[in-house]
Amino acid sequence: MKSITTSFKLTVLISFLVVGVIIGYVVAKTTSHWSPTPKEQQLVKAVSGLGVVGVQAADTSKPTLQSANYSRTGAVKNRTVYYPGTEDLAPDEMRVITCGSGMPVPSLNQGAACFLVELGNGDKFIFDMGTGSSERLMSLGIPLDYINKVFIGHLHMDHMGDLPAFWVYGPQNNRSGPLYVWGPGGGGTRPEWSFKESMENMKKMWAWMTGTLVGTIDTRAHQLYVTEFDWSKINNVIYEENGVVIRTIPAIHFEQSVSFILEWNGLKFSFSSDTVPNKWWVKYTQDSDLSIHEAFFPTGMWEEKYGFSAQEALNASTVIHTSAVMFGKVISLTKPRQAVAYHFTNEPDSLPKMVDAVRETYDGPVDYATDFMVWNVTKDKIRTRLGAYNTFVYPVPPLEEKQIATSGDRYVTPQWVTNGIEPELLPVIQKIYDDFNEEYGTDYQYPLKK
Ligand SMILES: [Zn+2]
Ligand SMILES: [Zn+2]
Repeated sequence: MKSITTSFKLTVLISFLVVGVIIGYVVAKTTSHWSPTPKEQQLVKAVSGLGVVGVQAADTSKPTLQSANYSRTGAVKNRTVYYPGTEDLAPDEMRVITCGSGMPVPSLNQGAACFLVELGNGDKFIFDMGTGSSERLMSLGIPLDYINKVFIGHLHMDHMGDLPAFWVYGPQNNRSGPLYVWGPGGGGTRPEWSFKESMENMKKMWAWMTGTLVGTIDTRAHQLYVTEFDWSKINNVIYEENGVVIRTIPAIHFEQSVSFILEWNGLKFSFSSDTVPNKWWVKYTQDSDLSIHEAFFPTGMWEEKYGFSAQEALNASTVIHTSAVMFGKVISLTKPRQAVAYHFTNEPDSLPKMVDAVRETYDGPVDYATDFMVWNVTKDKIRTRLGAYNTFVYPVPPLEEKQIATSGDRYVTPQWVTNGIEPELLPVIQKIYDDFNEEYGTDYQYPLKK
């Protein structure tokens, strides 16, 4: 009797779960006009059959229940979250991390455009460095000497606003070598607007900060190697080294703007930066493994969310940028293995509207980027996950011994300023020096001579 009751209860419970999932599916489908892709249909089918109520994104492979897969002391493998710095990259693998997916509006959830591409050969490349992206890059805990190559698609603040911070903070954050930057110029553009000119002006703007540090800490990180390329050239190779080729195509975004295509080891990564869908993108990004293209809000949402006038909204989302429905169309023309929509405020109210708009013109695989969204790409598999992030950041220890300039153009604070030290402080400072000299066996005297 007891076992019959239990079995009956179990049957009822499973029925409820299955019915719940089916109702949930139908409600989701009818309320959001969501037309599932074959992958999504398969997922729902699998979930309904099992009576599982939660739907896990991305990975559909089922874990086995063999206890040998787990250990009481070892780390659990195959997490659905990416913890930076805990996973080796396979020799044939590409990992892409979103360090900025959002808009010019400064936001705690989303920095502006920035994607880090890591390759199994050890190379790492940063594409765009919008405002808010440098703290996201720092939170990954990667030595700065490994992330020293930055490619800028155009000179809008939301695509390069954090480049000064990333460059100037190099010494304090243990970058020991130069920063290498690539950006667009030429092509008939006003020369004073070129990337090279912009970098010269950046150096001038921060001359006081970089100059006063010389002789105080290791400032080798302030060396800046600037490569300007002609933005108007089509499928133009701007980088070729170690099996990696990076090309640019013109973008339709005022002028002096490009999109990037990176190829390595049979894998292809495309990044639009900002552009209206164009014939060069359609021709040269075909069959990308990972294709990241901007996707702006539909016109009405600009008025609702940003307070734009109707005309401003129309202009922003169709003449300078790519409205979500346009994103769907251009992606359906290029058929990447995995598409990524970025450059919109991704929050619970806006996301379903973006999905609806994209689904009008595209029914393939697409991710809607948030910061720290991560893709692991190999020829066999593309895996999408969200990354955990550290909000209390210290710099990673340096890879090389520090070298402080001892000659040349060292800066020294004028003596009348240093002589202004409050005399009552001198014994306190003297104790610091006494303790230091005792610990390190040195004989430093205050004030330290540089
Ligand atoms: Zn722009
Ligand atoms: Zn932009």
